[in-house]
Formats: sequence, structure tokens, C-alpha cells
Amino acid sequence: MTIKQALISVSDKEGIVELAKRLHQFGIKIISSGGTAKLLQEADIAVTEVSEYTQFSEMLDGRVKTLHPRIHAGILARTDLPAHQQALQQAGIPPIELVIVNLYPFIETIAQADCTLEQAIENIDIGGPTLIRAAAKNYRHVTVITDPDDYTVLLAEMEANKGSVSPEKRFQFAQKAFTHTARYDSAISNYLTATDSNSQRQHFPDALNLNFDIVQTLRYGENPHQQAVFYRDADSPPGSLANYSQLQGKELSYNNIADTDAAWECVKTFDAPACVIVKHANPCGVAIADNPLTAYQLAFATDPTSAFGGIIAFNRAVDAQLAEAILKQFVEVIIAPEFSQEARQTLAQKNNIRVLLVPLQTCSNQLELKRVSGGLLVQTSDSLNLSQHQLTIVSRAQPTPQQVEDCLFAWRVAKFVKSNAIVFCAQGQTLGIGAGQMSRIDSARIASIKAEHAGLSLMGSVVASDAFFPFRDGLDVVVEAGARAVIQPGGSVRDEEVIKAADEHGIVMMFTGIRHFRH
Ligand code: 5GP
Repeated sequence: MTIKQALISVSDKEGIVELAKRLHQFGIKIISSGGTAKLLQEADIAVTEVSEYTQFSEMLDGRVKTLHPRIHAGILARTDLPAHQQALQQAGIPPIELVIVNLYPFIETIAQADCTLEQAIENIDIGGPTLIRAAAKNYRHVTVITDPDDYTVLLAEMEANKGSVSPEKRFQFAQKAFTHTARYDSAISNYLTATDSNSQRQHFPDALNLNFDIVQTLRYGENPHQQAVFYRDADSPPGSLANYSQLQGKELSYNNIADTDAAWECVKTFDAPACVIVKHANPCGVAIADNPLTAYQLAFATDPTSAFGGIIAFNRAVDAQLAEAILKQFVEVIIAPEFSQEARQTLAQKNNIRVLLVPLQTCSNQLELKRVSGGLLVQTSDSLNLSQHQLTIVSRAQPTPQQVEDCLFAWRVAKFVKSNAIVFCAQGQTLGIGAGQMSRIDSARIASIKAEHAGLSLMGSVVASDAFFPFRDGLDVVVEAGARAVIQPGGSVRDEEVIKAADEHGIVMMFTGIRHFRH
């Protein structure tokens, strides 16, 4: 299908004049929004301004430019449907077969330290994503370009195909387009989520006026010679650990509370039935499954030695069968949103075990406080959760859907493991966790040794690293252990070396662009 008409509306105008010139040589008519049209006209390229094309002036300071039926019907009409073609003809609307858009620089704007909420909001592009999504939806008939790096790809394709773009390429461009708008929207969502109800970005007061009530005085702190108290934030939501109800068991200790918090916050991040076992502040086994019993069995299998005397958290009700299974091991604390009557009776056989009930509710945006000598460090919590569209595959090898799922699972677990964190996983189960080492390569070695001790095979596993690999050696260790896919933030000066190593090994590597240090 030859392209007769193209719409160009770009914020990043790099390379657009050259591209438009070439499109013009292909005999393509160009329509452009105000700023883009001006630039093209200055370069003596024939262009019709959108407002002239629609007979409707841009309005509201550019908030409404291309949002017009003459544009969107032209993009969304199917060429294979006579009814669509007839409708276009009746309305006198020519089809638009090529859409080239890049969006207002929202991400770049909010990255500036002095960016105000107003500036951020003005940089939320409305018409651009609408154009992109319309064109991508209709990819069978329309080509959509969102990445300036694809200008050369587009031209090469058109040259090879007498001015048209192959269906395969159109589909690829559409996939990329939806990834682009999804990322854009999640950046907006993340930004606004970090903004408080007065529409101000999360800010910190000049002085902290903390409002905490005592929950209980503890027998002692981390060690018997330390005194300790457990306080509750006066505004804490019901799903916070501080609002626990204790169904049975000995009094909670300082270490119990700290470890239970880690287990509870981790288990809450999973939608599927999950079990998290924590020992000394680190998860030593995490799994998701069809039911909490299987999740428990898989989590326990990761590291039965460390699970001894651990804290076990569930995001589903504990029933009698699950309670029976847990009683076979030595456990300090069990925490869940519900315990059946039978489960309570079963657990009562061992009345030392602390059983905690807390409603399942995410409690994000709490401030984290850490005392340093003579001062206090305060930060917002690491409540960022990654979704699939935020991943960038940097290796030549492409992941299978199962590998993507496992990588996302491993990544969620790694967030709760003390740095440097290395987490091997497969099929929703952790296989080896390396935590708290001063070098990443040691964490990698420990994680694989632990899997070996537990009798678990790492062949074909995936691995998450909470921060980038500073050298390729850590990667070599995990691949040698059996990993076939790696998820990590990227961002090292030696990324290139590490990606090359991944390609040499023929494994999948994906970047998150986000790191999860936990010290
Ligand atoms: P220009 O510099 O050509 O005036 O504007 C280009 C930018 O406007 C592109 O980033 C494009 O995504 C965006 N854009 C296109 N149409 C609309 C619209 O109707 N509303 C808004 N808010 N932005 C638009």
C-alpha cells in the first residue's frame, strides 16, 4: 500500500527536516502541527498545517491541536472495509497512511530538580499518544513511527518496497508504539503517585514533627543489652504491621517485628498466592503458586536450613492443611490476612508460635527513617513496582514469555534482599538467594552454592541483580551456574562489555532502568 499522506507532529525535531524532504520526494503530502509545520516551511518543504487541514485553529495553548475527526478518521479507517472507505468519501476525508509522532518531553521535564507540578502537567501530551495509539491500532493500514532512530529504518523500507512499508514492519512499529505510550503513561502515573493530596510533590518539612504512639515496650532490642519500644505511626493504615492482631504465641521480639515487616511487605507485592520466608531480614525462600500450600512448599524448598526459625508470610488465608505443613518446621512467626478456625486449632498445638493477623492492604508512600549519629535520614519508601512494558531487552536473544514472567518475579524478590542481591528463580520459585555481600560476584557465588546445597538445579533459570553488574565476571558466574536470562538495571559504564558477554553466552538480558539498593 503506497503512502500518499503523512502526519508529522514531533516535539524532538532532530532529523525531521531530512526525513520530510525524503518523504516529499516519494510524492507524499505532509500535514503537520504548528511548531513542526513552521520548521518544515522554513526548510522550504511543502506542508499543510493541521489547523488549515481541519479548518479548526489550535486552541487552549496547544492542548488541542490534532484532536479532530478529520485527522483521526483519516488514521483509523480500514482500507479493506468498503463502509469505512464510503464514510471517508462522504465526509471528504483523505486517509493518512503514515504517522510520525514523538511526545512532549514529560520524562525529561520531571527529571529536572526544580520542575513544578504545573510544568509536569503541561508536559503531559494528550493529542500525541492519541495519534500514536490510533495509528498503531490500525497498523494493518497505517505506519506509525515514534522513535527518531527509526527514520532511517522507515526510509530503507520504503526504498525497498517502492514507497510502501511491509505488513511485518508495520506490526513491529505498532508494537513499539504501544510500548512507548505505555511507558509514557506509567512515568506520569509514577510521578503523580509520588505527589501528595495537596497536589504538591512529596516534600519534606523543615523539621519533622513525628506523631507516634507506643504499641508496646519490648523485652529488649536487637541484643539483650539494648532497650527497645515499638511505636505506631498515628496515621498508619490497617494493613501495616503495626496494626497487627496476635492470635497466639509468645511476645514479639524486636527482631521478630523487623523480620516480619520485611516478609509482610514482600508477600503483599504478589497478586498470585504467595509465600515469603524471611530469616535475619532477608527472604530465604519465596514462591508463587496456584495455592498457598504449594507456594509454602516451594518457598521452603529454596533453603530449608535457613527457613529453620524463620518468619513465614502469606497473602492468602491459612487453612488447616497449610497449618499442618508449617508445623513440621520450627517457625517463629506466621503472618497472614486470615486463618481458618481449623487452622487456628491446629496451630494452637504449638502455642509458642506467634500467629499474626493483618488485613491485606498495600501501604505505600510511607516515609522511611534511619538514625545516623546526631541526625536522621528520611526517604520515601521504595514502593516502585516494575511492569513488563518497562523492560528493555538488550541481548540478541529474546526472552520466552515464561522467562519474562520469571524475571519479573525474581526482580520483585530482589527488591527485598539486602544488597548486593542476586536471586535465581524458575517457574515462580526462588532457587538460590545471595544477600548482603560487599561484592556482587560473591553474592552470585553464594546464591548458586545455596541452590546446590538445597539440591535445586539452576539449569535454565533466570537471575535478578538488584543493581548493575559492574564487570562481566558476575554475569559469567550466574551463567556458568545455569542461568539463561538475567534482569538487571543496567547503567554501568561497562554495560557494553556486559551485554557482549550475554550475547557470547547466548542468554537473554533485560534492563529495568531502576535499581533497588537495600542496605
Ligand atoms: P508542534 O511543535 O508541532 O506544535 O507540536 C508537536 C507536539 O504536539 C508533539 O509532541 C505531539 O505529540 C503533540 N501533539 C499533537 N497533537 C496534540 C494535541 O491535540 N494536543 C496535545 N496536547 N499535544 C498534541
